[in-house]
Amino acid sequence: MNKDWSEKNKEIQKLLSKEATFGEAIKKLIEFREELFQQITWIVEGYPEEAFYQAPFAGADGVHSTTLAFSIWHTFRIEDIVAHEMIAVDEQILFKEKYLKKIASPIITTANELRGEEITEFSKKLNIKELYLYTKAVKESSDKILLELQYKDLKRKFGEDTKEKLIKSKCVSEDEEAFWLIDYWCGKDVKGLIQMPFSRHWIMHIEAMQRIKNQLCKIARKGADPVAICGLSCNHCFLGAWCGGCRTEYNVCSFATCSEGRICPNVKCCNEKNIDGCYECSELETCEKGFFVPSNDGANAAKAQSLYIRKYGKKEFLKVQTRLHEKHEFQKVQEVLGRDYKEALKILEET
Ligand code: SF4
Ligand code: SF4
Repeated sequence: MNKDWSEKNKEIQKLLSKEATFGEAIKKLIEFREELFQQITWIVEGYPEEAFYQAPFAGADGVHSTTLAFSIWHTFRIEDIVAHEMIAVDEQILFKEKYLKKIASPIITTANELRGEEITEFSKKLNIKELYLYTKAVKESSDKILLELQYKDLKRKFGEDTKEKLIKSKCVSEDEEAFWLIDYWCGKDVKGLIQMPFSRHWIMHIEAMQRIKNQLCKIARKGADPVAICGLSCNHCFLGAWCGGCRTEYNVCSFATCSEGRICPNVKCCNEKNIDGCYECSELETCEKGFFVPSNDGANAAKAQSLYIRKYGKKEFLKVQTRLHEKHEFQKVQEVLGRDYKEALKILEET
């Protein structure tokens, strides 16, 4: 488990155990959920549709054997059911806000019952944008429930009537892989539910999502040219685990994600000019487009690297990058090369 997340979770659980620190625990839990949720936002905003139904670890032992779409659906269906059927005793967000139709999900369950190909087929059917809006709505409503809780509520237990209600709702499949959830949830008090579906369960599935997307980026980069169109080296980039590179569908380079159609202005311009990269462009020295916009900290470094490629070729450029990164971390390299592109070119030539 991510060490920082594990520490935060432990601290929250400790604070939750005492009445004097209960308020602080809820505040920290909501902040922590916000931090974790940011990972989901980045994934949803950054990756192409096909990424959500790929299972690069299919057959492996663990929750990372599923897909991104499955992980999101499963995590938030469980929270929706637990938060509304059990804790708040009101209507689930899936039904109240008519998300079932919007997401186009063929099931209302937690999806625990799905196996192998069924997970992929299910994932393909989901409208990811609507699924994301559903997760946001569930998160917000759960945060509200958390804020309304009092310390004494933590000890509230659940009886046969809750079990029957859950069975009747058909939100948990009768399949043996799923049905145990009802006994599991009903065996806990409110505190136990907060400790699992509202926090630990998130961590488990968000970590699995990170493994899935890292693997998808790795696969996308196989065989792809590691020299970015603007002149950076994808092989040496700090965003390597997030980005498949600007020559693939898995491009989450900052200028791509914030540009129209998720296409980086430098990529668009090179495509229009039908050239391989900015290093082939006669306007490079004076260009202020996309990555070369003067307000971008990395503009000079990228420009110098493009000029280096123009002079010495990609092979030599990748070797220089390796030598530079043996000496400095990515950020430092950007800093060293970032002051003036002519000076930076000299540094590259002397490295
Ligand atoms: S952010 Fe840019 S340089 Fe980094 S891996 Fe992505 S395309 Fe390559
Ligand atoms: S004009 Fe700028 S963005 Fe376009 S190809 Fe030339 S250097 Fe690249």
